[in-house]
Amino acid sequence: MAQAPILIWYRADLRVHDHEPLHQAVQARPSSILPVYCFDPRHFGTTSFGFPKTGAFRAQFLLESVADLRQQLRSLGSDLILRIGKPEAVIPQMAQELGVAAVYYYREVTSEERAVESALNSALSKTGVKAKTFWGHTLYYPDDLPFGIPQIPELFTNFRKQVERESSVNSPLPTPKQLPPLPNVSVGGLPELATFGLEAPKPDPRGVLEFRGGETEGKARVQQYFWQGDRLRVYKETRNGLLGADYSSKFSPWLALGCLSPRYIHAEVERYEGDRIQNDSTYWLIFELLWRDYFRFVCAKHGNKVFLPAGLQGVDIPWKQDEKRFDLWREGMTGFPLVDANMRELAATGFMSNRGRQNVASFLTKNLGIDWRMGAEWFESLLIDHDVCSNYGNWNYTAGVGNDARGFRFFNITKQAKDYDPDGTYVKHWLPELANLPASKVHEPWKLLPIEQQRFEVRLGVDYPMAVVDLFKSAEANERIYNEALGIRKADRGGHNNRDARRRGDRRRS
Ligand SMILES: Cc1cc2nc3c(=O)[nH]c(=O)nc-3n(C[C@H](O)[C@H](O)[C@H](O)COP(=O)(O)OP(=O)(O)OC[C@H]3O[C@@H](n4cnc5c(N)ncnc54)[C@H](O)[C@@H]3O)c2cc1C
Repeated sequence: MAQAPILIWYRADLRVHDHEPLHQAVQARPSSILPVYCFDPRHFGTTSFGFPKTGAFRAQFLLESVADLRQQLRSLGSDLILRIGKPEAVIPQMAQELGVAAVYYYREVTSEERAVESALNSALSKTGVKAKTFWGHTLYYPDDLPFGIPQIPELFTNFRKQVERESSVNSPLPTPKQLPPLPNVSVGGLPELATFGLEAPKPDPRGVLEFRGGETEGKARVQQYFWQGDRLRVYKETRNGLLGADYSSKFSPWLALGCLSPRYIHAEVERYEGDRIQNDSTYWLIFELLWRDYFRFVCAKHGNKVFLPAGLQGVDIPWKQDEKRFDLWREGMTGFPLVDANMRELAATGFMSNRGRQNVASFLTKNLGIDWRMGAEWFESLLIDHDVCSNYGNWNYTAGVGNDARGFRFFNITKQAKDYDPDGTYVKHWLPELANLPASKVHEPWKLLPIEQQRFEVRLGVDYPMAVVDLFKSAEANERIYNEALGIRKADRGGHNNRDARRRGDRRRS
C-alpha cells in the first residue's frame, strides 16, 4: 500500500539532480510527493547595519531559480508549491491539511537557518509529522570524512591533505524519471520583486556574464565552461583574472542556491579528465571547491563564532564603524582604482572576482580598520552567490580573525593592481574617468602632478577622488592595533607573542 504523502521542503537546494531528499522520497513510494518552497519574509528584512538582507540582484537570481525548479518539477509530472511565509508556520499547517507523514529537507549549519529548523521540527512533532533531515551542499559528506565535525582541523591545509588521502566523493544521485502528480492543492504564483519591495536591477552590459538563476542555466554554464569553451584545462592559469566570462568558472551563484550540486561538478571534472585532459587545472577546480566544503564544516564546528567581531579566533580588535569611510568603500570612491573598480562592479552587477574580493576585503579591514562585518553584510546584500559559510568564513580569514589567521597580513593593493591588471584594462572598464591615463600611472592616480592631471583629463578630487589613506601608513597603524589585541589575548592565556602567531601555520594561499 502506498505510504502517506511526503513533503520536500526546498531551501538553498533548488534542483532535481543529486537531491537526496527527493531521491529518498521517491524510494519510499508515497502516495504523493509535495515539493514546497517558502519565501521567508525574514530574508527580505534588513541586516544589522541596515542593508537589504537580500538585495535586488540576489532576489532576482532567486526568483529565476525557483521558477526553473518549478519547470523541472513540472516536466517530471509534479509541481512546486509556493508560499510566502515562515516555513515553521506554513509547512506544519500544510502537512496537517494534506495528511503528510514526513517532511524531508537538507539541514543547514548556521544559526538563523538552524533556528528555523528547530521551530519547524517542534511544530511538526506536535502534530505527529516526522522530520527527516539530510546533509548536503558539500563534495564530501560528514560520514566520509576521516574526522568528526568537532575534530575538523583548524588549518585548511591539514583538512585538505587528510581528506584527499582518506576520503572520496560519492557520485551524484540520479534525477527521478517521474514524480507522482500533486494532490488537489493550490500551487501558488511566483512572486515579483516588488512583492519584497525591490526594483528590478538594470542589467549592466559591462558585467562578466549575464547570470540567470536555475538548474537549467547552471548546467548550461558547466557545459559551456568545461566542454564547449574547453576552459577547464587552463583554469589554474586564468582563475585570478578580473575581466570576462571565462577567467573562472562562475559556478558560485548556482552553487549558492543549490541549482548545481558540487558532486555533479566533480563528476563532470572526472569525465573531462577521462575524455580530454587531467592536469593541475582540473585538480585546482576541485581544490577550490574544497575551500567551500571547508568553510561549511568550520561553521558547523564553530557555530555562531563566525559572526562575532572577534571571529573564530576570538581576537578582540577595536574595529571602527566609520560610516563615512565605509560609504566611500562601498561606492567605489576610495581613490584606489583597483578597490573602486571592484566595488563599482559589485554594485552594478552583484558579482566580483575572487581576486577582487580579497583585495577589497583586505583594504576595508587592514587599511581602513573598519569592522569586517559591515563588509560581510554589504556582500551578503549584493552578491548573487552569497553563501553564509563562504562569505563569513572568507571575511574572517581576510580580517585576520579566522581560525587559521596568521597574524596581520594585508594586500599591497598597488602591487596587486600591477600584477593582475598590468595595462589597467580592468580599472578603466569600471572607472571611465581614468580612461586616458597610461598604464604606468593608472594604478596610482594620487601621484599625478597638476600638469599630468590636465594632460590626462582627470582632476583629483573632482573627476576621481584623492586617496582616502596612505596605503602603508594606514596598514602600519592597523597592524599596531591588531598586534595589541592579539598580544593582550596571548598574554592573558600566558602564551606566545605575536611573532609566534605569525610564524604559525602554512603559507597564505594566493
Ligand atoms: C571576502 C570574500 C567573500 C566571499 N564571499 C563568497 C560568497 O558569499 N559565496 C561564494 O560562493 N564565495 C565567496 N567567496 C569566495 C570566492 O571569491 C568565490 O567563490 C568566487 O569568486 C566565485 O567565482 P567562481 O565561481 O568563478 O570561482 P572559481 O574560481 O571558478 O572557483 C570554483 C568554485 O570554488 C569555490 N570557491 C572558490 N574560491 C573559494 C573561496 N575562497 N571560498 C569558498 N569557496 C570558493 C566556489 O564555489 C566557486 O564557484 C568570497 C571570497 C572572499 C575573499
